[in-house]
Amino acid sequence: LPAPDVVAPQADDVAALLPRPAAETDKYRRGVLALAAGSDRYRGAAVLAAGGALRTGVGMLRYAGQPEVAREVVARWPETVASVLDPTDPVASLPKRVAAWVVGPGRGLHPTAAAELEAVLATGEPVLVDADALTLLARAPELVRERDAPTLLTPHAGELARLLPGTERADIEANRLVHVRRAAAEYGCTVLLKGSTTLVAEPDGPVAANPTGTPLLAAAGSGDVLAGMVGALLATGLAPWEAAVCGAYLHGLAARLAHDGAPISASDLFDAVPRAIAAVT
Ligand code: AMP
Ligand code: MG
Repeated sequence: LPAPDVVAPQADDVAALLPRPAAETDKYRRGVLALAAGSDRYRGAAVLAAGGALRTGVGMLRYAGQPEVAREVVARWPETVASVLDPTDPVASLPKRVAAWVVGPGRGLHPTAAAELEAVLATGEPVLVDADALTLLARAPELVRERDAPTLLTPHAGELARLLPGTERADIEANRLVHVRRAAAEYGCTVLLKGSTTLVAEPDGPVAANPTGTPLLAAAGSGDVLAGMVGALLATGLAPWEAAVCGAYLHGLAARLAHDGAPISASDLFDAVPRAIAAVT
């Protein structure tokens, strides 16, 4: 029988994929995630992505960016190892020996951010590209098309429209399945399209439709938390499609668990993520 082309992952599927640290592991083998996020204007994006990553579970989170943002990330999450990016030489100042990268949330569109994105995509590690980094990537798609290492793009409909020239946001909304598949084929990588039903596609293989979505997530900052969560799963060794599927599932479930009748905001997800993981495993 041909494989179904759209699958809806369930709790058991997610549980089977989630990494379980071996008894003999250490913080390096558990996975080091590097986070290039936040800017003077959007400091919170870095704090939110860091929280998503730490609560999902990494051996170590390394933050790379501006000193003011680094200070705030460490103030909220003291376990973060922060390094300051040298704007005159972003390539040399990137953290070394990391297992995966998250680049883009709140990072801005300035030349330093563009140089940093190029340097991160030149590494051989898995990279999750989100938010502002997607806008920069739309100007230089070959950075991903010519990349050999695993890459995951996490656009919302507007960001995906920028990645597919000649396509409007309304076209994406009218046929999300077609466009997420097209983006995966054109960029040759995994694409997670955010929205009321989050879809995850890769160039060959089924599309996953996330069943846990909830409009509670339609709030500023929730996408930044998702980027950190999926990045953590990449750092612990999951392939992009698996990391995206598990991250989206847990993100939606965390929102439902955080909700006790009143609206939630993105930082309410932090405490709910470990509960979501416990609920599926
Ligand atoms: P961003 O667009 O980066 O701020 O991310 C928003 C997050 O909220 C993504 O995980 C979306 O999938 C989710 N989201 C936005 N709107 C909805 C909705 N109406 N229903 C469910 N999830 C949503
Ligand atoms: Mg976003």
